[in-house]
Amino acid sequence: MQNRTLELLKSYHLKATPQRIEILNVIESLGHANIDEIYEVAKKKHSTMSLATVYKNITALLEKNILNEVALNNFKSKYEIVKDRHAHLVCKECGYVQDIELNQEIKHISKDISSDYNFNFENLELNIYGVCSKCSK
Ligand SMILES: [Zn+2]
Ligand SMILES: [Zn+2]
Repeated sequence: MQNRTLELLKSYHLKATPQRIEILNVIESLGHANIDEIYEVAKKKHSTMSLATVYKNITALLEKNILNEVALNNFKSKYEIVKDRHAHLVCKECGYVQDIELNQEIKHISKDISSDYNFNFENLELNIYGVCSKCSK
């Protein structure tokens, strides 16, 4: 896990500070996490970690497209390491976010939109809201 994080930072020419590495490791292990969750876990290993440091690093990692922001209804945004285009299942009770694969048709929707609507497609965000298995018990 550590190596992947270092590779990521190196390939984007970002300095691999211990705090930055820790933040990425936390996000990778949680999958999707908001600022508070990242801070809670990261400060256990790095007692000098502040909420401001987490904010600053998240901003830098978003700018470099290493992280993706998952904006949610009624919950704070969560962050994930950028990966293939996918959709999210979001629990409206606890805010739990789970990745789901998109089928090929949806993946290729970008081409159709660009030609059919003369619209420069950039990004697709799809959140499907419901209740997770834990909350429905
Ligand atoms: Zn839930
Ligand atoms: Zn995701």
